[in-house]
Amino acid sequence: MNTLRDEAVVLRTYRSGESDRVVVLWGRELGKIRTIAKGVRKTTSKIGGGLEPLSHVNIFLADSRGDLKIVKQVEHCNRFATLKSSFERITAGMALVEVVDAIPAEDLADEGIFTMLVRALETLDDPEIVPLLVPAAFFLKLLALDGSEPLLDCCVNCSSEGPLVAFDAAQGGTTCRDCRSGRQISPEALVVMQRMMGGDLAGVLREANPAGAGEVTAVAQEAIERHFNRRLKVARSTPAS
Ligand SMILES: [Zn+2]
Repeated sequence: MNTLRDEAVVLRTYRSGESDRVVVLWGRELGKIRTIAKGVRKTTSKIGGGLEPLSHVNIFLADSRGDLKIVKQVEHCNRFATLKSSFERITAGMALVEVVDAIPAEDLADEGIFTMLVRALETLDDPEIVPLLVPAAFFLKLLALDGSEPLLDCCVNCSSEGPLVAFDAAQGGTTCRDCRSGRQISPEALVVMQRMMGGDLAGVLREANPAGAGEVTAVAQEAIERHFNRRLKVARSTPAS
């Protein structure tokens, strides 16, 4: 039996049998993997605490013959104390891991996704950052990473520079007054999205409640749901303002 080591983020866990837990991870090298932590629900287990969703860990696995690799040992890379002390930050983090969990399994082992996820969790752990728009930014950047960056500076239909009045998730970009389709967006929301994707994400995430934030969240969520063809449960419950 070979032992594997990887750096990973826990996406989701669920009970298995009397005392075991299945742990779904995204590993830097292994991509999305399903593992089983045996005896983890017993109070004497030493690895249980490292396997909560949003944990960033070094994990040691026994490469068993079956579908599930067996967790042997877990070490925390980052405890995310600030993230885990805030319900709003945890909710935002859960929206990120839910989306990563929805990425089709054939896209396995994309290190870019791992790196983006860890950076987004580190961002949520930064006390200077307001968590409100972190999921929206992550969704838009994930689309870009997957080669589907939304068009935000001209009309996706006629290439006119505007005014741009709506965002059409099906076409993947903004639409002008003449071509108007999709969800109506305010000029303020458009500016926030352009700043996020144009190099001023850090500035946006330091603002307490930028105008148009609720619209940006709705647009980003619709775009990522359409991309992965799946409605997002956790993301939908993120408070929008
Ligand atoms: Zn147009």
